[in-house]
Amino acid sequence: MCGIVGYFGYRDAKSIIVKGLKRLEYRGYDSAGIALYDGSDIKIIKTKGKVSDLEDKIAAKKNANGSLGIGHTRWATHGVPNDINSHPHRSNSGDLVIIHNGIIENYAAIKKELVNRGYSFQSDTDTEVLVNLIEAVQKSGNYKLGEAVQIALNQVVGAYAIAIIDLKKPNEIIVARLGSPLAIGIGKDEYFIASDASPFIEYTNNAVYLEDEEMAVIRLHKEPEFRNIKNGDLFDPYVQELQLNIEEIEKGGFNHFMLKEIFEQPKAIQDTYRGRLKVNKGLVKMSGIDDNIEKLSNAQKITIVGCGTSWHAGLVAEYIFEEIARIPVEVEYASEFRYRNPIISDKDIVIAISQSGETADTLAAIKLAKKNGAFVFGVCNVVGSSISRETDAGAYTHAGPEIGVASTKAFTTQITLLTMMALRLAKAKRTLSASDYKRHLIELETIPGKIKTVLESDALTKKIAGIYKDATNFLYLGRGFNFPVALEGALKLKEISYIHAEGYPAAEMKHGPIALIDENMPIVVIATKYGHYKKIVSNIQEIKSRKGKIIGIVTKGDTQVKALADHVIEIPETLELLSPLLTTIPLQLLSYHIAVLLGKNVDQPRNLAKSVTVE
Ligand code: GLU
Repeated sequence: MCGIVGYFGYRDAKSIIVKGLKRLEYRGYDSAGIALYDGSDIKIIKTKGKVSDLEDKIAAKKNANGSLGIGHTRWATHGVPNDINSHPHRSNSGDLVIIHNGIIENYAAIKKELVNRGYSFQSDTDTEVLVNLIEAVQKSGNYKLGEAVQIALNQVVGAYAIAIIDLKKPNEIIVARLGSPLAIGIGKDEYFIASDASPFIEYTNNAVYLEDEEMAVIRLHKEPEFRNIKNGDLFDPYVQELQLNIEEIEKGGFNHFMLKEIFEQPKAIQDTYRGRLKVNKGLVKMSGIDDNIEKLSNAQKITIVGCGTSWHAGLVAEYIFEEIARIPVEVEYASEFRYRNPIISDKDIVIAISQSGETADTLAAIKLAKKNGAFVFGVCNVVGSSISRETDAGAYTHAGPEIGVASTKAFTTQITLLTMMALRLAKAKRTLSASDYKRHLIELETIPGKIKTVLESDALTKKIAGIYKDATNFLYLGRGFNFPVALEGALKLKEISYIHAEGYPAAEMKHGPIALIDENMPIVVIATKYGHYKKIVSNIQEIKSRKGKIIGIVTKGDTQVKALADHVIEIPETLELLSPLLTTIPLQLLSYHIAVLLGKNVDQPRNLAKSVTVE
């Protein structure tokens, strides 16, 4: 899941790589390392810890220089995070140096074979096995490095984005990808390599995103050579012009990316519907949907696949699609779906949701769905990502880069996009009256302004966070459209504050979780004024009778819940179907403030990484 960066050109490689690793640290942050070719040797500096620890270590070594280098920020899969397991890794001869994102699944068998042939290993990683396999191949037939990489990669099973340099031929970097992302930035007399384009955006707008089973040999003052890994065929890549700008990937005055991204939601949602939601004309226009409207509106079933927060967005969408487009929906964890024998046919639509568009389990689920004949529609944020390329059609959320590991604006923009999709299908299927349809369009356009109002409760939410920050358990309850919001609220709290939290449909509480309630248990109840309101008020009474502490998320002007709850946070009125876009905001703020008050690293919570490119 890690981040990789490389540079080959005329500038100081180390500063470009270190800065780039900081931008990619959301991808993994248990250790970091760099390899620099200084004109006579490849120097490796690496350490357990953050990129800032690596920076200190580099500063202590005065002679770390060079204009060819590779760097890595790790999210350990094989071997604990320590200095030795950190990347880069060197081959036995000392000549080849590699960085790797992914997992080599058959590393144990390869390692055994290499040990039999006299190879020894310093680390517990699968990566060190790969670099030695490449070396063994290289030596076995006097192959050029590029050839050896290609042969070796045909022997491995798993996922990788790799970059390799060779002390004997310090005029090239070899890169390759299968299942983990890799972008090559093409400048004038310089090349950049990175897991996404953020490390090189200020240097060049031209990038090639490698596809699976593609590799490249990058040399200075020469066109890179692109090959297919399977058959060795040369190909001309598609050079993309990047739209990213540097301000988007900086904190802009906020203490954390997560807070910046929470506050960005009004704009992010506008960006999601910009040019697509045409209220005056009564239209939702998205080419990915319009071009396939027949297929989509005649779907016999929609299966939504995703992981984590994306799965929660899928659950909200299930309620929305069924309510207004009257299509049966199932929502599945991609990691489960991919290993089941799902009943999917060519009359089915599969919607795959992933912020990064690189989530390994979701990608695998897409491949399975396609194999079964389903039409796959992707909902991603990152333009050009693997999922966006793998799907039959799709739409981007256009939320801008999300860097905080705990997803916030990705969630609300996914829901916005899926709502528009449901409305478009409802129109095609005539399952919503013309006036209801119009009302939904009008109301959706007011959501960014209403989120701004909810954000005004930031100070109040912080105060509530201060009261409950030492609780060891939280319960989140919601019903209907807001049941998935309860799940998402609990997930946010777990992710960044490490407090145990569970989300439940409010009525389920009495079938188990009610046993946990005592005077020490804070319970966040989404109790907005819709169809379930009376039932929720009864649920709150049940909590009250057991002395639980109630934090209610209520509709502005509410009096009943206010009279019962210990605290309330108000949200403006809206259609029930759209209310998750508002109710989720105070839950994001609550978890943010609790985590900050507990001194946790909000943007880089332990054990997590932003883009889960491993199984
Ligand atoms: N499997 C490699 C390791 O554990 C790479 C993990 C990653 O993608 O960061 O070192």
